[in-house]
Amino acid sequence: MPVCQSCGKEWTWKQTMKTLFKLKCPYCGEKQYESAKSRMKNGMISVLISLIAMLAANILLDLSLVSAIIFGLLAVVILFSVYPFVLKLSNEEEPYW
Ligand SMILES: [Zn+2]
Repeated sequence: MPVCQSCGKEWTWKQTMKTLFKLKCPYCGEKQYESAKSRMKNGMISVLISLIAMLAANILLDLSLVSAIIFGLLAVVILFSVYPFVLKLSNEEEPYW
């Protein structure tokens, strides 16, 4: 789970979900940023999950448009639910490289 770099408190899964797009600490109210390392890791995980989802969809399912959409949504839900576990915070916006 992410730890606020400003006050050192750990966010719960629910708190992280609530502030997923703003990344504002629920304890001290400080704006947090996703660290460059964490962004890279999350990027790789999203690519991996999308690839697996697409492969699985191709191989396992006789895919209609509706089931493709449901499958895609499922992949997004999985992605979002694991996000708080890999999210690492930083006080400043870090450059990618
Ligand atoms: Zn904080």
